[in-house]
Amino acid sequence: MHSQATGRFCTRCGAILDIQTAVRIQNEIESLDRKFSTLLQDEDVQKLLMKKMIEHGIK
Ligand SMILES: [Zn+2]
Repeated sequence: MHSQATGRFCTRCGAILDIQTAVRIQNEIESLDRKFSTLLQDEDVQKLLMKKMIEHGIK
């Protein structure tokens, strides 16, 4: 059971209780996803990411 004290998020688990907020955040994530997909097709970005992954030990 969610608990909504004042805001749009559940005070207990952080779930979004307002459908408009949920839709807006979903749209923002999708938009960001498209931007990243475009960036990741760039060879320079791929090289930089590869370099950074090695630097941070990410495999
Ligand atoms: Zn909850």
